[in-house]
Amino acid sequence: MIQLKNVSKFYYSKGVIATGFSKVNLSFDIGEFVAITGESGSGKSTLLNVISGLETYEEGEMFVEGKETSHYIEKDWEVYRRKYIGNIYQNFNLINSYTVYQNIDVILSLNGVCQKERKQKILTLLKRVDMLKYKNTKVSKLSGGQKQRVAIARALAKDVPVIIADEPTGNLDKRSAESIIELLREISKDKLIIIVTHNFEQVADYVTRKITMHDGRVLEDKKQVDFEKQNISLDQYSFKNIRLWDEIKLGIRNTFNICIKFILLFAVYSFIVCALMGEYSFFKEGEYELSKQGYNYVFQDLNDHRIIFNKKDKTFFTAEEVETIKKLKNIDYVVENDMTADYIFDFAEADETEWYNANAKSISLLKIDHLKGRLPENDNEIVLEAEEGSYALPKDPDKILNHEIFAFDPATGTLNKTEAYTIVGVRYIPEGTTSQNQLIMYVSDSKLKELHTRVHRTYSRIKIDFVNRIYQMDYYSNFLKLTPNAWIDRGKVYISEEENYRCDKFNCVGQTISVTVSNIYYTKTSYFTIAKTYNKKNINQILDLPNYNQKEYEMNYSGPIYMNIDDYEDLFSKDSYQMSVYVKDVDHINETEKQLQDMGYHTLKIKDTLVKETGVEIIRVLKIVMTLGLVFVLFFITYFVIKIILKSRNIYYSILRMLGASKKVCRNLLMIELFTVTNLSYFTFLMIAEINRRGYIHVGFINTVNRYFANIDYIILYVILILMSLFISLRYSRKLFKDSVMNTYREEM
Ligand code: ADP
Ligand code: MG
Repeated sequence: MIQLKNVSKFYYSKGVIATGFSKVNLSFDIGEFVAITGESGSGKSTLLNVISGLETYEEGEMFVEGKETSHYIEKDWEVYRRKYIGNIYQNFNLINSYTVYQNIDVILSLNGVCQKERKQKILTLLKRVDMLKYKNTKVSKLSGGQKQRVAIARALAKDVPVIIADEPTGNLDKRSAESIIELLREISKDKLIIIVTHNFEQVADYVTRKITMHDGRVLEDKKQVDFEKQNISLDQYSFKNIRLWDEIKLGIRNTFNICIKFILLFAVYSFIVCALMGEYSFFKEGEYELSKQGYNYVFQDLNDHRIIFNKKDKTFFTAEEVETIKKLKNIDYVVENDMTADYIFDFAEADETEWYNANAKSISLLKIDHLKGRLPENDNEIVLEAEEGSYALPKDPDKILNHEIFAFDPATGTLNKTEAYTIVGVRYIPEGTTSQNQLIMYVSDSKLKELHTRVHRTYSRIKIDFVNRIYQMDYYSNFLKLTPNAWIDRGKVYISEEENYRCDKFNCVGQTISVTVSNIYYTKTSYFTIAKTYNKKNINQILDLPNYNQKEYEMNYSGPIYMNIDDYEDLFSKDSYQMSVYVKDVDHINETEKQLQDMGYHTLKIKDTLVKETGVEIIRVLKIVMTLGLVFVLFFITYFVIKIILKSRNIYYSILRMLGASKKVCRNLLMIELFTVTNLSYFTFLMIAEINRRGYIHVGFINTVNRYFANIDYIILYVILILMSLFISLRYSRKLFKDSVMNTYREEM
């Protein structure tokens, strides 16, 4: 069935040509048991390798079933080997980390035999070579003779017509050698067996033919005994491909098969996972911190925990609504009239050396840790709070504690000496807690209400209809300035005597004026009766203004309109049209925002109001570049390390190749192996992250990962890892298959 005509094999190495064998003419048939002998270096092994399709030949023609093979490419030889050839080697080439059973199982799996059939077949084969009782023994624990029996069983498992054995007894003692030869003789009935031996005596009684080689040529080809010519068509020999499920099982088995290799791979992969996660989260953190540092022209309190919201119908919040909001999960506190938090109140010391620009909050929100000084005891005592090292406050608390500061009147641009505050407490908070250089003043609730009215007034337009003349004004107009006074009854106003010219008989008392206040939230009109007029002389007395500055009176083109305090506050609203909540856990701020939206409110996270500075974009680009760079570097480090680790696998894959595994199968097996380790290390990391999240352990960088990673980030990193494993297995298998089976194998021995 196999015929060689003038076949020669040359080796080229470093420009030197060596002859393996030359001009060999031989033909072999099924049923023959052929022994090839000859001294070392005579070309026996080379001949067997050519016949086995493990090596190509350079000259002549080899026929299989009368068909030429000189045009065969690697793939054709793979098919040829799988269909026809079973090999037995001097050094057994078993997979040492597998049991006897698994060694045969692997070859049957590679040939697509199903699980049930496999088991049956393996047991029969093991019985035949008398190795049944060792079926669960690791091959490395067997003696040489036993190993060769397993190798024979494995060669038989493939159900091929040709068995080729290169010095199968070379490593065995006499007794074992004899039994092996007997075994081969037994199976030679319906097969072609070609065996190379040094020791012809050993096989003389069994073989049907003896070929002697010398110096690469056939010296003698002698028939020993007749053999029964078998009429077996080679068409009956066929093979199937490995089943996917068996491939997966084999790949997973290989993952854990060699403990130390698994631990090393797992360690390398865990390192990659940690390195990638660490680097990526570092940039995520940077990006997030920078994203907090934008600016805008509307809001002053840029705390990233804050959500601003109002009602879609622009009405004010009812008490019940406020209560419901306060009960939501993850709410730290609620600021009902949040405008004071965004308005800058300007203060200075009497000599105007130190200036303070503060946002106002209720004293009830002050946290008392880190507080220097004491809490306020009346409406004009305040506590100031800023980040450590910020420009908003002097570093030394003694420079400000118990100092008196005065409010600026934005309308006149001068210090209002009648509005004095004493700084009784100072609180320095750690950097990064609020927005940079923000100063917060904590005041009593009644003072906050007053300030709130002022903010509303600042942001509102005022229209006064004064005896059929209409004046449009804002907070900064000094003309007919609305001014609250405790001495006036509700619904009444006092005007300056000089305004009497507007009215009949120069007397406006008893007339009505209307005041319309409008701002982004509401428009409200109120009516007041002019109850009295005042002048320069009586103003101190009727309005109880002992400090009233006569000069100022004269400077004003027109005197203010004095009105009742409560009326004044009503005009500028005690209701809240816009509120803010501050969440406890900023990681879940989106959920809180969603809840508020579901309740029908317009919402705005402070983070979304920020105009980003260019730094954020740079960081983002940097993150991508660095991650890619790191992946690149990691890939090569990993590849290098994994290559070393896999070096021990080269033998394994070479053996699989010799047994007929294709490149694709080898690559898939390695891929499954690497995927398994990748997944194990990745999910181990996730598990540790979860344990960390629950607070059982505390690893800083995992906290960062937990904090800044979104689902998509986990997916991106997972994909990167999987791709890395894919590339590694592709590269590895390409390298493994770069050379012929024998050369790759020889390199490893
Ligand atoms: P045998 O098996 O009879 O001892 P081999 O078939 O191994 O002999 O070797 C036959 C000849 O081919 C020897 O001269 C050897 O030097 C040469 N040869 C075998 N393998 C290689 C190789 N890979 N590269 C170069 N020369 C080789
Ligand atoms: Mg040899």
